[in-house]
Amino acid sequence: MSEPHIATHEVSLYASARKIYPRSVSGVFARWRWALVWITQIVFYGMPWLEWGQRQAVVFDLGARRFYIFGLVLYPQDFIYMTGLLVISALSLFLFTALAGRLWCGYACPQTVYTEIFLWIERKVEGDRSARMRLDNAAFSLEKFVKKWFKHLLWIMFAMWTGFTFVGYFTPIRELGMEFLQTRMSSWEVFWVFFYGFATYGNAGFMREQVCKYMCPYARFQSAMFDRDTMIVSYDPGRGEPRGARARLADHRAQGLGKCVDCTLCVQVCPTGIDIRDGLQYECIGCGACADVCDTVMDKLAYPRGLVRYTTQNGMTRGWTRAQMLRRTLRPRVLVYTAVLLAVSLVVAFGLALRTPFKVDVVRDRASLARIVDGGRIENVYRLQIMNATEAVQRYRIEASGIAGLAVHSDASAEVGPAESRWVALRLQIPFDAMPPGSHPVRIDVGQADGDAHVSEKSVFIVPR
Ligand code: SF4
Ligand code: SF4
Repeated sequence: MSEPHIATHEVSLYASARKIYPRSVSGVFARWRWALVWITQIVFYGMPWLEWGQRQAVVFDLGARRFYIFGLVLYPQDFIYMTGLLVISALSLFLFTALAGRLWCGYACPQTVYTEIFLWIERKVEGDRSARMRLDNAAFSLEKFVKKWFKHLLWIMFAMWTGFTFVGYFTPIRELGMEFLQTRMSSWEVFWVFFYGFATYGNAGFMREQVCKYMCPYARFQSAMFDRDTMIVSYDPGRGEPRGARARLADHRAQGLGKCVDCTLCVQVCPTGIDIRDGLQYECIGCGACADVCDTVMDKLAYPRGLVRYTTQNGMTRGWTRAQMLRRTLRPRVLVYTAVLLAVSLVVAFGLALRTPFKVDVVRDRASLARIVDGGRIENVYRLQIMNATEAVQRYRIEASGIAGLAVHSDASAEVGPAESRWVALRLQIPFDAMPPGSHPVRIDVGQADGDAHVSEKSVFIVPR
């Protein structure tokens, strides 16, 4: 019996990414985005060049395990403040997302900011959307080669400068510049300049919206932070539908049409290539480009602005005014985020303001637990690490307490240079019969010789059998 013939055909589960050519746009949200591009980039590229006394104002010296942030000198023991800063950033993200959706994504995220800059370079070299599409579809020519080559050259120069600036936060940037000129940068510095530079080049030049769509986890959990009173960029179907082309001066109502002329400009400007008219989508980064361009279309047709606008789901479905929507801003979720954010910020600020200007670590000398010394006294040896978190030379007093007759028999004071840390040997002694054999708690106190600050650390004194 012959086998029945079954027609088969292969279906690929892989779809290559469609290249997006965002059209340039101007308007109030584009101006906000550019303002944030300028602010964030002036801070990022300018900060390493700022001086603070004899040093770079902000530098994270990983080798010496010190972070310098203007007047602050932070040691690894200050990691708690870094944790506080991360908690503040996370809470701010929650708060702003609850208020107005993906504000961070649309205006200040490095991926958005660098894509905006790379797109600007691309437009200057290759032209706007249609010119870029024509160029990409054209056969190879000298003009195409020169334009592409020049664009990539500018992109790479900008990306390398970004990588250099990034490393300048970890190695003083002027030193790094001299090392570069004298071709004596360390292999790690070269690696990080290239790594960060090429990450910028790849993410902003090629990956673009794909980073937001497939790599960034934030898009996935944003819906948990939205509610019906969150301001999001939305298309108003009640006003826009039925959509359709019409003559400029035609009466669209008589034609049974809404305000949307179906020009697709909102899709053409969208950096993630979506159609806002399809409703809220996880790909939307809330950049407002579609709102800007749609307003220009509405202006041309003398229709009211805001067919695509920042609004809330409640505002849209219930026809609320802006004032009614703003009144819903102070809802429980927002108040809780604000209260927690303020509380954590205050705790971190007070903690920083009141922190002791030095740190102390006590380590028992492992070579000898305890020994009998001249005069029959019992001695324990410790090592103290004193970390000066000020930028002036400091002198410290060293004292010990906890056992009757406990005395310091090494230098009872130590001097530590500005922002330096120093290991100091500490010998404590007690009379022979002061305590029974065993381990006894003691306190080691280190205090500023010319100030009130002091640190008290616990340790033990061992009496041998
Ligand atoms: S830009 Fe405005 S008018 Fe044009 S298609 Fe988009 S929503 Fe409709
Ligand atoms: S849909 Fe509009 S707001 Fe959302 S990413 Fe696209 S252009 Fe930006």
